[in-house]
Amino acid sequence: MRPETIAIHAGSQAEGLTGAIVPPIYQTSTYQQQGIGDHKGFIYTRTGNPSRSLLEESLAAIEGAQHALCFASGMAAINTVVQSLKSGDHVLCPASVYGGTFRLLSNVYDRFGIEVSFVEMADLEAVRAALRPNTAVLWLETPTNPLLGVCDIAELAALARSKGILTVVDNTFATPIFQRPLELGVDLVVHSTTKYLGGHLDVLGGALLCNDDALFAKLKFLQNAVGAVQAPFDAWLIQRGLKTVGLRVRQQASSAHAIAEWLESHPRVRRVHYPGLASHPQHAIAAKQMSGFGGVLSFELEGVAEDAERLVASTQLFALGESLGGVRSLACIPAKQTHASMTQEARDRAGISDTLVRLAVGLEHPQDLIEDLEQALASVPSVAAVMR
Ligand code: PLP
Repeated sequence: MRPETIAIHAGSQAEGLTGAIVPPIYQTSTYQQQGIGDHKGFIYTRTGNPSRSLLEESLAAIEGAQHALCFASGMAAINTVVQSLKSGDHVLCPASVYGGTFRLLSNVYDRFGIEVSFVEMADLEAVRAALRPNTAVLWLETPTNPLLGVCDIAELAALARSKGILTVVDNTFATPIFQRPLELGVDLVVHSTTKYLGGHLDVLGGALLCNDDALFAKLKFLQNAVGAVQAPFDAWLIQRGLKTVGLRVRQQASSAHAIAEWLESHPRVRRVHYPGLASHPQHAIAAKQMSGFGGVLSFELEGVAEDAERLVASTQLFALGESLGGVRSLACIPAKQTHASMTQEARDRAGISDTLVRLAVGLEHPQDLIEDLEQALASVPSVAAVMR
């Protein structure tokens, strides 16, 4: 079965008592036991909850994984992966990685002796050179947030495997509809289910997916020990969103592609970052490993920082906001918002300028979105653009 069908059927068995076609929300913290050690598979909601289990069943089936674990947020899922490491381990990350992942590794785990360094993942030789004897994790995010950089998942997973290094892919931007990292040799997939999988900008969540039983057992132990689990109602909301993920992301990708092409020919736009464009430096890799290019793009505005700020304040359909993957379109300035926790040096190294604008395309009509951008761009006539 294809992921679209699985998204509707997996983890959605009719409830036994009444036949309710949608499983109820198991809004309970604990369970009545028949005797000590005699229970129906659930003991306490931090350890397990049917609403969470059903979502985990759906996500695992859609991603083609044996196991899934759901967390209170994407960062809670990422944190659990880092907590599986030990002092002295090294994590190699993309230079342009989500700001929250950068912050967690650079400003939290530095105090626990976990080393992190950053490299351009599209450059295989640079990755090879950046590996250390103590590298425990090769962290991949592809496409990256916010520059939409793409790396070759299969090639990097093979390199890591040959050295006994765990490969993790943050698959949030691509979704399992467009990209299947486990089938490309990756050990662990991370999602912020807050984004496309939930899809409605009304819930936070995170997930880990893998095939290896021992890795799953280690992460499951940590999930229960640490406790950043997904609440039952939130799990139910994400599962509700999941049923339409295929339809949503295909429309979002088609609209994002149209917007990217339109922006590319706009005189006030210096450069557009979207893996579906032939001008994208890793377009061939994206075309090889993705079946769609996603609903996020970013572009460099011709002008100064104030122009970019004026632009995102002038859009009417694109709300100024820091998320993506939802039904409503959002715009932001990564340097000032989503990636503000990066140092200036790290932003410069990654190429995240003050005039970079990120667009998360929603489900409005693409022509209405283009017209919104057109009027917003017209309202910011920068000196540089006018003089061209
Ligand atoms: N990974 C990526 C690529 C993200 O964009 C985000 C959030 O924007 C996260 C992880 C963190 O997810 P959450 O906000 O659900 O904690």
